[in-house]
Amino acid sequence: MKTVLFNLTDSELEQFVVDMGLPRFRAKQIREWLNRGAPNFSVMKNLPIDLREKLATVADTMPVKIIKKLESSDNQTTKFLLELNDCEQIECVLMRTTYGNSVCVSSQAGCAMGCKFCASTLLGLKRNLTTNEMFAQVLTAQWELRGDKLKDIRPNGDANNNDVSHIVVMGTGEPLQNTQNVIGFLEQANKELNISWRRITVSTCGIIPGIDALNAWGRPINLAISLHAPDDELRTQIMPVNNRFKIKEVLDAAFRFSDNHNRQLMIEYILLGKKNSDGVIELFNATPEHAEKLSDLIRGHNVMVNLIPWNTVDERDFASISGNAVHRFQDILIKNGIHTRIRRERGADIGSACGQLRLKNAQK
Ligand code: SF4
Repeated sequence: MKTVLFNLTDSELEQFVVDMGLPRFRAKQIREWLNRGAPNFSVMKNLPIDLREKLATVADTMPVKIIKKLESSDNQTTKFLLELNDCEQIECVLMRTTYGNSVCVSSQAGCAMGCKFCASTLLGLKRNLTTNEMFAQVLTAQWELRGDKLKDIRPNGDANNNDVSHIVVMGTGEPLQNTQNVIGFLEQANKELNISWRRITVSTCGIIPGIDALNAWGRPINLAISLHAPDDELRTQIMPVNNRFKIKEVLDAAFRFSDNHNRQLMIEYILLGKKNSDGVIELFNATPEHAEKLSDLIRGHNVMVNLIPWNTVDERDFASISGNAVHRFQDILIKNGIHTRIRRERGADIGSACGQLRLKNAQK
């Protein structure tokens, strides 16, 4: 297996170049390229061509390698299928928005949580990602935005058009089953890329010890809870994690976090339909009664509900509901004084729902 230079410490990298019979300053040159997310050695223009070729025979630059890149038709979303050194695959998505450039990062290869609407869990959990494997996803997006141009150093950390400004840990995997590596990665992103805590979101299906660990960590990031149902009976049908952690306890832990950090709690709620035996689509978790129950759970707290119209996954047994039904659900939340928005579907034409690209590649 080739050495991944990004994973080496500065002194290890120096030793590596010395062992190759090269002068020590080459280590510093290579490190600068690695810190920018250089996907290979051929882009390292200040190294002689024969050295770049030699390096490529014995080493890789980053711990993730792009094996597929898809661009949405509006050019606002880029989805990467990435390969890790042990050939596991993960996904990462770059979203160019009006408020900045956001990267959706995977925290595990696969997922053990078994949510019934999700493609990421269909192949089970392979393993946790390392801190570097998560950070390298952000650098991959940064390279996509900036290429080999030098990064501006902006002391106030403001986003410009060519920088990653936001991170959401909402890709494949349950971040709070890999909490310490996720925390290490976010510390790195904050320190090295100057991404402020308030522009970082971690999304969980409700692992209470993990929420408590984030609370103890003490950084004012945003927390998102994938709720997707307003009562335990319905939630257990689609999210096995609910057998272990019930809605009320999960929300209590989440409110503790958001109150302690003075942050608005995000609730993620996918609106699902299901075909009955006559082929008619019925509302699964999106009736007016469900909207009222959801309101009762969160009324009086500082919460934003993100309503997410279902993004079709062929292997999953759900159906999209009508725009009218989505708006009816939202209207009830608004009437009850709940902050809510409908999440714009991004990159539907490139399968941006979590895990779809990885699954399709594995099925080939
Ligand atoms: S929704 Fe999240 S937690 Fe649930 S199976 Fe998919 S990746 Fe895992």
